[in-house]
Amino acid sequence: MKVKCPQCEEIAELGDDFSYVRCSHCSLDMTYGEYVKFIAYKDAKYSDILGDYANDNEGITSGTLDEW
Ligand SMILES: [Zn+2]
Repeated sequence: MKVKCPQCEEIAELGDDFSYVRCSHCSLDMTYGEYVKFIAYKDAKYSDILGDYANDNEGITSGTLDEW
């Protein structure tokens, strides 16, 4: 079954028994469980609902100081 690759947005292959997801475009190779988690994690990042769930301080960027 064809699914959308969560990593490169190309067409990935989902095993008929839902046991794996593989993408030949970016060498993605994971179980379906991992795939679902991957999707959920991406969705969470997009919607920003679980912003403090995975708190890896990735969003901290010190910009230039505006001294008025
Ligand atoms: Zn891919």
